[in-house]
Amino acid sequence: MFDELKEECGVFGISLKNPSEDVMYNMYMGLFSLQHRGQESCGVAYFDDKSNIQVVKSAGLVAEKLLPQLPQNYPCTAAIGHVRYSTTGSAGLINAQPLLFKCNKGEIAIANNGQLPNYDILKEELIANGAIFQTSSDSEILIHLMSNTPGNDFESSLISSIKKLDGAFSTLVMGDKNKIIAFKDPYGFKPLAYGKLGDQGYVFSSETAALNILGVTDIKFLEPGELIICENGEIKQKLHYSDKKKASQCVFELVYFARPDSSVFSESVHQFRFNSGRMLAKNRKKDTDIVISVPDSGNIAALGFSRESGIPFDMGLMRNHYTGRTFIRTTQKQREEAVKIKLNPIKSVIEGKTISIVDDSIVRGTTSKKIIKMLRDAGAKEIHMYLSSPEVLGCCYYGINTPTTKELISTNHTPEEIAKIIGADSVTFLRLEDLRACLKDPDSFCYACFNQDYPIKKI
Ligand code: SF4
Repeated sequence: MFDELKEECGVFGISLKNPSEDVMYNMYMGLFSLQHRGQESCGVAYFDDKSNIQVVKSAGLVAEKLLPQLPQNYPCTAAIGHVRYSTTGSAGLINAQPLLFKCNKGEIAIANNGQLPNYDILKEELIANGAIFQTSSDSEILIHLMSNTPGNDFESSLISSIKKLDGAFSTLVMGDKNKIIAFKDPYGFKPLAYGKLGDQGYVFSSETAALNILGVTDIKFLEPGELIICENGEIKQKLHYSDKKKASQCVFELVYFARPDSSVFSESVHQFRFNSGRMLAKNRKKDTDIVISVPDSGNIAALGFSRESGIPFDMGLMRNHYTGRTFIRTTQKQREEAVKIKLNPIKSVIEGKTISIVDDSIVRGTTSKKIIKMLRDAGAKEIHMYLSSPEVLGCCYYGINTPTTKELISTNHTPEEIAKIIGADSVTFLRLEDLRACLKDPDSFCYACFNQDYPIKKI
């Protein structure tokens, strides 16, 4: 499923007690570790030696495009950063984050992961009252709400403005000369963690893998509706700014988006995927010769499947990690070859075998069809496809880029029909109750793309 759903963004931030040249290096390391969450653009905002905010942004990848622009040997105390794949707003550099604004509350930079389903309505209201938008990113709404709040107080205007937003957001804001403020929406859709960088200060990140790499300790997860004010490397205040809502953490972070070496929402991604593979194996159609995965998204669930079933795991497909962004494919032949650039079957593993193949999900089914054909061409005798999530039946309005409902293969077809369409001998989805059984606190998650029970309705 490696090219069918897209995560919107990742955020990363640092606040230290004393200026350090390490801030830029650590920002680079953090954003590089979150690159899988967005590859369209990236950026860093930092306080300069006069406590003004400077921003460096670029289209493209962190190592290739951002690193050469970051100031070298530049001591500073705080910075926030962002990697982006656009959902709301166009992909142009103008929408690349962090966004920087000057208003009656001073300079404010914002890095956000999420989406506001009712963005259009809020924007129309603000424009009717005279607001002029600089970008088409929904994150800009917050700045307009802040500047419309009477008075000059940065913190209170931020808190009262967040209360007016309804949607999915895990956000880092910097302003008021030396503050970084981290907050999550009251449903807690998107992950955000933080911890201590020795005795120097605090680091915030969408995923814990980026914190582990820097040696961050005492890692905690922001709770739904929580807000943390960090100033000069110290946590000045923690508060819950909203009434309690039913927690609706995105379960797809665990199924697909987050790195397996991360924990999100206090859940180990690796453990969740391993358990979901075990659950799938309990409902297996038959004992095949081998279990293989669609790398990388199916690797860990396939291991769990193998451990539970006793069927040996093998690497039947090899993934090329260096494909990056390939050129636009204009002919049908080029489009068909696109999957082959990324995945190639290992004939000696596949030929003459009955195979169970594990992937995380099927969205449109186009990629799965190409993979099954590759395996047939490599001599597979039987192919049984297992998905470590239930059928995707609805779009996401909370920061995951999904095709339209019409394009989702499961909205119009049974698993038996899907097997025929993609050329497999059978297709088995993880049942929703089995997915829930893999979680420590299943009632605190959103499953709307599986059961269409949307925590916030799109107007
Ligand atoms: S609808 Fe699906 S992808 Fe969107 S937040 Fe809910 S679980 Fe995540």
